[in-house]
Amino acid sequence: MTLANIPPAPELPGARHLHSGKVRDLYEITEGPHTGKLLMVASDRLSIFDFVLETTIPDKGEILTRMSLWWFDQLASLVPNHVISTDVLDAVRGRAVVCERLDMFPVECVARGYLTGSGLLDYRATGEVCGIALPAGLEDGSRLPEPIFTPATKAELGDHDENVSYDAVVATVGADSAAALRDLTLRVYGRAEEIAREQGIILADTKFEFGVAPGGDGTIVLADEVLTPDSSRYWPADDWQPGRAQPSYDKQIVRNWALSPESGWDRSSGEAPPPLPPEVVERTRSRYIEAYERLTGERF
Ligand code: ATP
Ligand code: MG
Repeated sequence: MTLANIPPAPELPGARHLHSGKVRDLYEITEGPHTGKLLMVASDRLSIFDFVLETTIPDKGEILTRMSLWWFDQLASLVPNHVISTDVLDAVRGRAVVCERLDMFPVECVARGYLTGSGLLDYRATGEVCGIALPAGLEDGSRLPEPIFTPATKAELGDHDENVSYDAVVATVGADSAAALRDLTLRVYGRAEEIAREQGIILADTKFEFGVAPGGDGTIVLADEVLTPDSSRYWPADDWQPGRAQPSYDKQIVRNWALSPESGWDRSSGEAPPPLPPEVVERTRSRYIEAYERLTGERF
C-alpha cells in the first residue's frame, strides 16, 4: 500500500466530478446535448511506483488522449468503443473525451505477448502466469510462444492490481462473458501488436477495460483509454534483448532518475519522490511525443 496523492479535480462547468484516478479525472456531463454521458479528462500527471508526482509533464494528457483516440479508430473494425465526441470545453480540449457510460466488467483485461513485470515475477515464483503454464527458461523480455490473457482484479486506489486465474474471471462475470473478454482481448492485442511492429515498436503487453451499455443488447464495448504508454509497455524493437529490462517508451526516464543518487530519494522512506528537474521533464515529454509520432506517423 502506497500513497497516491492526487490533487483535487478542477471544477468544470456543466459537469459533475465523479472520480479521480492517478492520472485522469472522470466527470458526468450535466448540461447540453451530452447530458448523462461521461467526460474523461487526462491530466498531465505522472505516477511512478504508485506515487503521483508533484511535477507534471506538459502535454502528456493531450499526447495520450490522441494516442488512445488513434487506436480506437484503428481497432474500430474489431470492436466497438465508447467514444462519442471530442468536442469539449476549451479548458480541457485536446485531452478529454465524451464517452458512453457503460456497466464495466470488473476485470482488467491484460494481454501479454512478452514476459516482464508482474508476469515475470509470477513466472519466477510458480512457472505460471494467471494459471497458464509457460515453458522453462524464459527471461525478462522473452517473447511468449503465443500471447496470453492474464486478467487482473482492480485494486483500491494505491494498491497493486492482482493477477487472477481465468477461473476467477468466470466466477466473477460468468463463463460466456469470460470467454468473450478473453477472445476480444487477444484479438485486439494481436492486431495492435501487428500495427505497432510495422512501426518498429514492440507492444509487450497491454490492459483493456470493457463494458456493456445498460439496457442494450449486450454487445461488449472497448472503454477506458487504450494502448497508451500508461496502460501498455512499448519497446523499441531495435533495442529488444531478452535477459534484461528493456528500454521503453514510458516513464522509465523518470523512474531511473528517481532511483539514481541524483534525486536523493529513498524509495523505502514511504515519501513521494522530489520534484523533477526541468531536464528530466523535457526528456520525458519528448519520449511520449516520439512514441506518438512513431506509432501514428503523425506530427504532434
Ligand atoms: P488508476 O489511476 O490506477 O488507473 P483508476 O482506474 O481508479 O485508477 P482511472 O483509470 O482514472 O482511475 O478511472 C477511470 C475509471 O473509469 C475506471 O474505473 C474505469 O473502469 C472507468 N471507465 C472507463 N470507461 C468507462 C465507461 N465508458 N463507462 C463507465 N466507466 C468507465
Ligand atoms: Mg484506471
